[in-house]
Amino acid sequence: MRATVMYGAGDVRIENVPDARIIEPTDAVVTVTRACICGSDLWPYQKMEPTDTGRVMGHEAIGVVEAVGGEVRKIRRGDVVIMPFAFSDGTCVFCHDGLQTSCVHGGFFGTTEVAGAQAEAVRIPLADGTLFPVQVDKDDALMPSLLTLSDVMGTGHHAAVSAKVGPGKIVAVVGDGAVGLCGVIAARRLGAQQIIILGRHADRIALAREFGATDVVSGRGDEAVERVRALTGGLGAHSVLECVGLDAAMTTAISVARPGGAVGRVGVPQNEMMPTSQPAFYNNISVSGGPAPARAYIEELLPDVLNGTIQPGSVFDRVIGLDDVPDGYRAMNDREAIKVMVEP
Ligand SMILES: [Zn+2]
Repeated sequence: MRATVMYGAGDVRIENVPDARIIEPTDAVVTVTRACICGSDLWPYQKMEPTDTGRVMGHEAIGVVEAVGGEVRKIRRGDVVIMPFAFSDGTCVFCHDGLQTSCVHGGFFGTTEVAGAQAEAVRIPLADGTLFPVQVDKDDALMPSLLTLSDVMGTGHHAAVSAKVGPGKIVAVVGDGAVGLCGVIAARRLGAQQIIILGRHADRIALAREFGATDVVSGRGDEAVERVRALTGGLGAHSVLECVGLDAAMTTAISVARPGGAVGRVGVPQNEMMPTSQPAFYNNISVSGGPAPARAYIEELLPDVLNGTIQPGSVFDRVIGLDDVPDGYRAMNDREAIKVMVEP
């Protein structure tokens, strides 16, 4: 089968690899009908050390179950399923707590251990716990929005939940990538009164407004902080969604939070140290977040996708086949595309 293999920074190739197949009796094999490129795929695209073996990329997908192992009970051949970006057993203490990204038997797709989904098919470990079957046809018009439940919409929601967004809250969203845009959707859905997006790209800002952003701050650094303060009566935001992962974004996030406020971070941190520790301390700002338990959030978000209340699929502004995936990485890295959908 064909798959996307990354060999190092900027080196993405489409290659023939061994077919995805059942290895453990708890596995399933899913034919990928739609996958996508994630903002977090751009970190290795920019920094990965060259390797000879490469890494099959992709951790977001929707598809049709092709085969199941002998111990799979809930998932059946022919099911249309959402694949969350982490696999999980669905039975351990963390899965019961709704934190499947910390499953004691779990792990992540698109790593050196478990192949990714920017491919014709993907092996799903712990299929019963991992996959979420949906009762729609594989070509349903809602597919782009359903696909976002595998990561980006769940991640935006996690940022909002971690930042304690609720009715009447003033929210700031740092980052206008697909996750930040889904964060806007999540903030509005949870009842925020004012949603300030910090971003600079015209196409993304337009979409943010469509999703419910009430204010736009296009400056950076101190200028952005001043502007958010001016928009919030000098006090800052109750809830700040940090959707980038760079030090500058975290510094801005903590600087625009009001005393007693909360920062929910979902951008993969690119530094071991967290900046702005002292202002966070003196202002009693809580900082929370991490890899979103997308599997847990599907249940909550799915009804709103199915009835059209939210339309996160609008973040996809380019659809490509597998052969064009290397150019899809380039386009996202050059900020030419917001988020690229792949139809293998
Ligand atoms: Zn578990």
